[in-house]
Amino acid sequence: MNVKIGLEIHCRIETKSKMFCSCPSDVEKARPNEFTCPICLGFPGSKPKANIEAIKKALMIAKALNCKISEVVLFSRKSYFYCDLAKNYQISQFEMPLGRNGYVELSNKKIRIKEIHIEEDPAKLVHVGKSINEAEYVLIDYNRSGIPLVEIVTEPDFSSTKEVREFLSKLSSILEHLGVYDPMKEASMRVDANVSIEGGERIEIKNITGFANVEKALSYEIARQYSLIKTGVKVERETRHWDEKMKATVSLRKKEVEEDYGYIFDPDLVKIETTGLIKEIENRMPELPDERIKRFVRDYGILEEQAKVIILVDKKLADFFEECAKIYKDYRKLARWVVVDLLKCLNWNNIRIGQSKVEKEKFVKLLEMIDRKVITERLAKEIIKEFVATGKDPEKIVEEKGLQPVGKEDIENVVELVLKENQKAVEDYMNGNEVALNFLVGVALKKLKTRGDPKLIKSLLIEKIKSLNS
Ligand code: ZN
Ligand code: MN
Repeated sequence: MNVKIGLEIHCRIETKSKMFCSCPSDVEKARPNEFTCPICLGFPGSKPKANIEAIKKALMIAKALNCKISEVVLFSRKSYFYCDLAKNYQISQFEMPLGRNGYVELSNKKIRIKEIHIEEDPAKLVHVGKSINEAEYVLIDYNRSGIPLVEIVTEPDFSSTKEVREFLSKLSSILEHLGVYDPMKEASMRVDANVSIEGGERIEIKNITGFANVEKALSYEIARQYSLIKTGVKVERETRHWDEKMKATVSLRKKEVEEDYGYIFDPDLVKIETTGLIKEIENRMPELPDERIKRFVRDYGILEEQAKVIILVDKKLADFFEECAKIYKDYRKLARWVVVDLLKCLNWNNIRIGQSKVEKEKFVKLLEMIDRKVITERLAKEIIKEFVATGKDPEKIVEEKGLQPVGKEDIENVVELVLKENQKAVEDYMNGNEVALNFLVGVALKKLKTRGDPKLIKSLLIEKIKSLNS
């Protein structure tokens, strides 16, 4: 069955001050409702003024998403009555969005961007109680009110959750490269998703934060609609909410008609021409992920798949790779260790490189220790776990755990001991059981604390067993 998914994504634009007032926008530092003023609290008579820096950054996003850019920036009032907006309307764009008809290229298809517009964030609501539908009361924090956002609307071009995931990580990487977005900030990207299955109506899931949640919500919703259709129940139009605790989407409201927000142009805000601004941002456009992936493949000679992972997972990881590449020249080995082991350990600790204590010099030192045969690759794969968790110097880890290199003599001693202690396995091997040999190598490696070259151990074992035989 045909699945159709479209996304509306709200992204917070990183600026010093809010969209229409001079309140600081780094509200994470503030107590609830501290960073507010008559403008972002929507007092009658207060006059908003557009933040040009936010407009420039939104223009950069529109350009990076290949949009046709509007000649003027005009703001409209989107009227609705809800406690997260004290003035009963949100300043947004409607008739003339900043950008239209863009696209983002995925590995197998193009996702069309219908439009991108600027708006202000409403206040943050905290529902206290069991769930959003059964909250006892609601706390309102107006710090978030007036933070600049871009809303990016795609066409319903996605046909799987996998495509959605690829799109979101690409989008996030583009925004990070533009330097307009901080993925570490709370709810810096919020997703509304429209999902429909052929023959059913469109369901909207509101306000999902976190890529993993988007994927879970969509998978759940597709399965739910699928089972409804299978049992002959018609899927009706409604708005649902992803409940993280219940791991399910729950109904918020049935939607009979298109909501009417009574848009009008905001008479408080002047029209801004974009021609001059576009010229200005053209000089500010940085290298974007697609170009960077190509450059990594060309200049470092690494695989495209590796370059994609490094760059699309986290821009800071790509920066880290390039910093390391300045002091470590085996780029392929570097890429392999970043993509496989470093990333695995970061994920294991549930952190990004920027939050970790991993330093480039120490990471490179670990690779050099393998090159100098101080440690084996196998041992390095153990050491990196502690290294990523603590940021400790790999040499120190080796010292503390008594993992200093072993000489051939040490290995020979261990091999002899292993043969003596495992006579059954030795006999099995002599009777043609190859697996028994691998078992003996394993035992020896364990005794050597994963030091020593497995190939050498293996050949020593065979040699010794042969001499036992003769
Ligand atoms: Zn304010
Ligand atoms: Mn919006």
